[in-house]
Amino acid sequence: MADLTQRDITRLYNMFSSSITNVDCGEKCGVYNANHVPFCCDIRCVIPSVYPCEWEYLKYNTDLWRPLEKNDRYEETFNKLPENQVPLICLGYQKCQRNFRSLSCRSFPFFPYIDHHGLFIGLSYYWEYQDRCWIINHLFSVTTQFRDEFVAAFQYILERSAQEYDIFYHQSIIMRRVFGRMKRAIPLISREPTQELIFYKVSPRTGRMRRADGNNFGKYGYYYFAEKLPFPDE
Ligand code: SF4
Ligand code: SF4
Repeated sequence: MADLTQRDITRLYNMFSSSITNVDCGEKCGVYNANHVPFCCDIRCVIPSVYPCEWEYLKYNTDLWRPLEKNDRYEETFNKLPENQVPLICLGYQKCQRNFRSLSCRSFPFFPYIDHHGLFIGLSYYWEYQDRCWIINHLFSVTTQFRDEFVAAFQYILERSAQEYDIFYHQSIIMRRVFGRMKRAIPLISREPTQELIFYKVSPRTGRMRRADGNNFGKYGYYYFAEKLPFPDE
């Protein structure tokens, strides 16, 4: 399998541009963060990273991004980045340029989940953000258009890059280990191109899939406590 090129990045940006949901989820989560910054646009929470060829494309087409130097402040998050990624910092969420968002911005908080048999079966999420990300706590609000574009984009990536396939294969194994220890089923948005989203709970041990209600995945962090309030939207 060849690796990704700048031409692939242009294609991917064109095929994967829809918003994740029809509401402004940055407003929804930002209320819980300092200065109302959406968590996934806050460098203290998530360091955006791109493929080397993606950086080559971005640096000649936009002033939105610059490389992020490693320093003590971000060291812990820095060390978690995959080796093949270039860490960047953008101009900030008030100066975001939608067309030049990185693939990691577009896909957050999801990654392509790869099952026991090595198949990309749907979208699951980076669970370390479950206490902050509004989307993770409202999976039913993801649009079918986002799902379809996510699936098309990652199918394209996985078919072209063995390295990316390995990264998501191992991410899925780690998720099974972590969720197995927690005795928790893996939440999954099916990749099937249906008119409404289909959700599953996947057994981390056996891979058995049970249909699930998207409204019924539980709440975490701020959203868990907000739900307990007499007026949960406040
Ligand atoms: S994807 Fe999650 S963290 Fe990012 S803006 Fe939406 S709710 Fe906030
Ligand atoms: S490019 Fe836009 S979406 Fe990505 S981190 Fe910056 S402000 Fe957020």
